[in-house]
Amino acid sequence: MRAITVTPGVANSAQLDDMPPPPASDGAILVRTLALGVCGTDREIVAGEYGTSPPGQDRLVLGHESLGRVVEAPGGSGFAAGDFVAGVVRRPDPVPCPACAAGEWDMCRNGRYVERGIKERHGFGADMFRIEPEFAIKVDPALGILGVLVEPTSIVAKAWDHTERIGARSRAWQPRTVLVTGAGPIGLLAALMGLQRGLDVHVLDHNAKGPKPALVRELGATYHANGMADIEGLEPDILIECTGAPAVIRDVLGRTAPDGIVCLAGVTAPGHAFEFDIGRYNRTMVLNNETVFGTVNANHRHYEMAADALARADRGWLERLITRRVQIERWAEALEHRSDDIKVIIEFTA
Ligand SMILES: [Zn+2]
Repeated sequence: MRAITVTPGVANSAQLDDMPPPPASDGAILVRTLALGVCGTDREIVAGEYGTSPPGQDRLVLGHESLGRVVEAPGGSGFAAGDFVAGVVRRPDPVPCPACAAGEWDMCRNGRYVERGIKERHGFGADMFRIEPEFAIKVDPALGILGVLVEPTSIVAKAWDHTERIGARSRAWQPRTVLVTGAGPIGLLAALMGLQRGLDVHVLDHNAKGPKPALVRELGATYHANGMADIEGLEPDILIECTGAPAVIRDVLGRTAPDGIVCLAGVTAPGHAFEFDIGRYNRTMVLNNETVFGTVNANHRHYEMAADALARADRGWLERLITRRVQIERWAEALEHRSDDIKVIIEFTA
C-alpha cells in the first residue's frame, strides 16, 4: 500500500512509499483511508522540527487527521464494514499516570503517551490503517468527506469543554460574548461551536481578504480585521486564542469581562520578549476573578462532541473550510502553504 512517510528530524525527507499492509497489532478494525487533513504539525514534522518514529524504525507514517471506511471489524466491536470512522490520535502512557488511567490521555502527566503520525506510532497517511475499537470514532455518513474535520474539531471541543468546566466554578456564570483570535481551521471551528451555544461570537484575524470574512459572517458571527482597535470596548466573557502569535497573546490577556476565561489554544515558539505590566495584569486577574488556561489534544469524549458538532453544522459552510483537495499522487502539494488556504486535505482513491 502507499504511505506518506518521513524520517523525523530530517528536513524534506517526506516521500510516498510502498509499505506492507498495517499489522494486526495496530488494532482489530481495518480501515480504507478516504482523506487525510494536513495541519501545521505535519509541516513541522516534514521540516524535520518535530516527530518521532516508532522504536526501532527510521521512518514514520505521517498523518493524524483521518477519515476512512471500515473494511472489517470484529463482531461485538460496535463497528461494521462500511462505517465512516476517524481515529483518535493519542494513546495513554504505559504506566499509566492518573490522567491516562482515567481515560484523559489529553491531560497526561508524564509525557510518555504516544501519538499516531506524530510520536512513536505510525499515522493514518496510508491507503489502509488499523485501529483499536476504543480509539475509533464513528462519523455521521451524511458528512461524507467532511468527517476529516473530526480531529481538528476535537481540539476545539476540548477547549469548549474545559472553558465550560472552569465557568461552572460560579453557579451564576452565563456567558454571552466570545472572542476568537485567529480565523484558521481551529478558530473557525471554535466560532462554529460558539454559535451552536447561542453566543455572540466575534472573530479577530489579520486577513481582510480571502474567504475568511465571509465564512465568519455566514456563521452569524462578527469579523474584525483591523486589529485591537476594532475590538476596543468589547469585553468577551470567553476568549479563545488560536493564533499563538506572541503580540496577540500580550494584547488579549486581561481583556475579558469580569469572571472572564481566556483559553490559549495556539502553540508559540519561545524567544519573543515583550514589555508587559505584570502588576496591572495580576491586579486585573485577581480583582476580576479571571482565568487563563492552556489546552492541547483531546480525549474520547471530545471526539464524540466533535462528531456531534459537525453533524449539526451547515454542510455547505463546512465544505468551504476545505479550500484545497489534493489527490494522494500529488501529496506534496498539500504540504505547501498557499495564501487563502484554510484546511487542505489529501484524498485517497483506490
Ligand atoms: Zn499519562
